[in-house]
This record gives sequence, C-alpha cells and structure tokens, in this order.
Amino acid sequence: MTQKILIVEDDPTIADTVELFLRKEGYQTEKARDGLRALELWQHFKPDLVVLDIGLPKLDGLEVLKHIKSQADTAVIFLTARAEEVDELLGLGLGADDYISKPFSPRTLIAHIKAVLRRTGVNAYEKPEVIRLGTIEIDTYRVMVTVNTQALNLTPTEFKLLHHLARTPGRAISRFELLEASMPESDALERAVDSHMKNLRQKLAEAGVPELIETVRSIGYRIVQP
Ligand code: CA
Repeated sequence: MTQKILIVEDDPTIADTVELFLRKEGYQTEKARDGLRALELWQHFKPDLVVLDIGLPKLDGLEVLKHIKSQADTAVIFLTARAEEVDELLGLGLGADDYISKPFSPRTLIAHIKAVLRRTGVNAYEKPEVIRLGTIEIDTYRVMVTVNTQALNLTPTEFKLLHHLARTPGRAISRFELLEASMPESDALERAVDSHMKNLRQKLAEAGVPELIETVRSIGYRIVQP
C-alpha cells in the first residue's frame, strides 16, 4: 500500500523540493501552505505522516500538531528553523515524533521519514504478546494499551516506551536504553525520552494510574510493581 505524506510548508521552494523527492521514493503526497489548510487535508487525505513546518500563516505548526495529536496517532516530523529550537520544543513536550532543523537535505528527511514510519507499526520480528500490570493491559499485537479495559490514546513512541518498561517491571532502565528501544533510527537526544515520558505519564494519570512509572535519579525510569 502506498504511504501518504502531507507536506505543510509555506515556502514553496522547500515544499516543491520535498514533494519531488518523496514522490520519487514512491510516496503519495499533498501540500498545504498554511495551518488551516493543513488540518483540512489531514482530515480528508488521511496521511500516514505529516512533515510540519512551525512558522505558518493562519495557524502555526504548534497549534496544528496539538490538534492532530489530540485526535489521532498520525506521525509528525517537525521542521524547525534553527537547531536550538529543537531543545525549546522538546521542553514543551508536544509529542512530535521527530525533529529536523533547516536547512536539511532531502536524503536526511527521507531517512527520518522511513525511520518514523517503520516504528509506527508493530515490529514484524517481534512475537506479539500481551503484558498485564494490574489493571493495565499492553497488547503488542494490536498495538493497544488499556486501563480497566478503556483504551489509552498513545503515540507510537509512547507505546514503545511503555512496552519496553513493562517487559521487566521493577528494573531501572537507562534513558539511553529507552531511546534505543523507542526511537532506534532517530538522532534524538536522551532528553527526548523525558519529553515523551512526561506525556505518557500524563495520559496514564488521566486514566487513573498516576504512579506506574517512577523516575530513577540520574539513570532513567522503572515500572512500579502494581
Ligand atoms: Ca515557514
């Protein structure tokens, strides 16, 4: 099945170049030049992944991301104007799946897109399993987490983090190991783990399990045995 990518970028030169390379790679693409059009296309085109610029007319990239992530698990790669901006964005804990700073080469972008799309699904080489922790059920076959049978709306990265922690409850797991387990092909830094973890904990807290994941000082995280 052809994978669909929505390119959201108000600079037509960048948008056209990206589109050209993505089409050459066999992806189906659509382009939006402002945030409102991006959301319209996101609804109708139903992309597998969105390449999202931050500075956009009408509605900026941050608002577009918030809207998308509140509704669905669509993968989003942020395009930032400066490398330093990545740190600021990570601090906000918005839950984008990856970040690329401009200027970037189309080859870099494609490598990031492939990596993100690869980890969006279940790893085909991993045996599907269901892990139960008290009222929580982690189903790697359906890529679903439920708390008291209520489904949690997690991003692919949040799912992988929770799954990796839950395989060995009680064990302190380093940020580095979590980064490798959840974002293997990305060059994200270890603090990206903190940002995704913050969102994951928030969702778990909202579902009634606020203390499942414990911070292990200067190491990383562990699951508290229920
Ligand atoms: Ca822009």
